[in-house]
Amino acid sequence: MNRPRIAIAGFQHETNTFTPIPTPFETFEAGGAWPGLQTGSGVIDTLAGLNIPIGGFIDAADEFDLMPIAWAAAEPGSYVTDDAFDKISGMIADGIAATNDVDGVYLDLHGAMVTQSHDDGEAEILRRIREVTGSELPIAVSLDLHGNMSREFAERASVTTIYRTYPHIDMAETGARACKLLREELRRGEPFAKAWRQLDYIVPIQAQSTRREPGARLYGMLPGLEGNGVSSVDFVFGFPPADVPACGCSVFSYGTDQNAVDAAADTILAALKAAEDELHNPLVPAADAVADAMTVACEASRPVLIADAQDNPGAGATGDTTGLLATLIEAGAQSAVIGMFWDPETALQAHAAGIGGELDVAIGGRYPQLGTGPLKARVRIEALSDGCFVFTGPMYGGATANLGPMAALRILDDGADVTVVVGSNRTQNADQAIFTHLNIQPPDQAIVCVKSAVHFLADYEPIAEKVIFAESPGANPCQLDRIPFTRLRQGVRLGPNGPAFSGSTRSSLSV
Ligand SMILES: [Zn+2]
Repeated sequence: MNRPRIAIAGFQHETNTFTPIPTPFETFEAGGAWPGLQTGSGVIDTLAGLNIPIGGFIDAADEFDLMPIAWAAAEPGSYVTDDAFDKISGMIADGIAATNDVDGVYLDLHGAMVTQSHDDGEAEILRRIREVTGSELPIAVSLDLHGNMSREFAERASVTTIYRTYPHIDMAETGARACKLLREELRRGEPFAKAWRQLDYIVPIQAQSTRREPGARLYGMLPGLEGNGVSSVDFVFGFPPADVPACGCSVFSYGTDQNAVDAAADTILAALKAAEDELHNPLVPAADAVADAMTVACEASRPVLIADAQDNPGAGATGDTTGLLATLIEAGAQSAVIGMFWDPETALQAHAAGIGGELDVAIGGRYPQLGTGPLKARVRIEALSDGCFVFTGPMYGGATANLGPMAALRILDDGADVTVVVGSNRTQNADQAIFTHLNIQPPDQAIVCVKSAVHFLADYEPIAEKVIFAESPGANPCQLDRIPFTRLRQGVRLGPNGPAFSGSTRSSLSV
């Protein structure tokens, strides 16, 4: 057999339908934590070797001739505009159409894209690609663990692989597994038998970590189900802040024996149902979180971590709400640090004032509809940076940050000792280097607060005495039964043992 010719492309977005941050074409062009839009040979030149799915696919594809088409990813935010979606999906579909004699396609997708016109962006991308490839061409897709997948998507993809870790430390590995399965399908010359199942309740995001049970156990089951006619089994836990019918957890299984494939999917679905009581949401009110942290910190030699989970920019939140910061000051927290606030204006003011300077600032709070305004305080500038530094944690380690002007600001308050880190490009704090490059050593603090929901655990949990998930305002609503969903599928339950969705939820969004 000649070397198979494989078109490769990517289009990643995690859409939070409750956030005020828009997602136009420019955000894909610019990129964020990942590189900006790539086309043609730039796809391989820029992305090979990175710990992202397409990087893993490229590195594993030594038996293939790769035809790089286009790849784009943007920071999580609100609906992808029709303009952005049409342009990028058009580049991919047209690029595949223009490539002669392709034997297969690999797509690096997230799995939670919602556009202005399409509830399920990935199903629509595949529909447009299938228009040019026909229904038979093998299309392998890798997905984030936070996908919200529909039956249409499951039908249009030939085979999928999904991250098995949260924090996501196996992104490249997941791309490599897609490569292996595509190779298997091409060698056999016939499509996989498939199974797809949808769980009947939505799993809260803080309950999804694979550093905790039952996530570790559930994802740990997957490799053991492979073999005897089953080539792979995976599941998405889902991305809850997305008001679309496919929101939630679903299971994918592939192989050569339909009965075995169905049985493997049913085994995981049954395990997810059996784990319902364990998948509870650990969020506590911010005041309780801070009080608990202060009590524990008195006796501990290591810091207490508080996650400002609902303001996690990694889930599309603004990264600038001030609820937890205000609570720290009010409670008189000592030796506390919090960051990163997305606040380019305050960062610029700090740079103008210089290290050691004191000034009055209004930190964050630019979206009053989220329930907090700016926090006004007098601060002293402790450290400054241009936001370019190298990440050091297990998730982003080795990648270079580009967060624009940044500053460490000590709040001048008689009762509290709190330092705030502000930056200019919105990003979640999942890496200690955000603090350490500003001379703040997290292990030396009593309380460390991060604007992140779960990803911070990979780098921060090993240094922590305790981790607390706090509930304070933000555009990543985590209390499922209080989110004003209107478009979920009928009957899906809002969290483990939660009420069934029936058209709309009872109360308005309180975050
Ligand atoms: Zn994810």
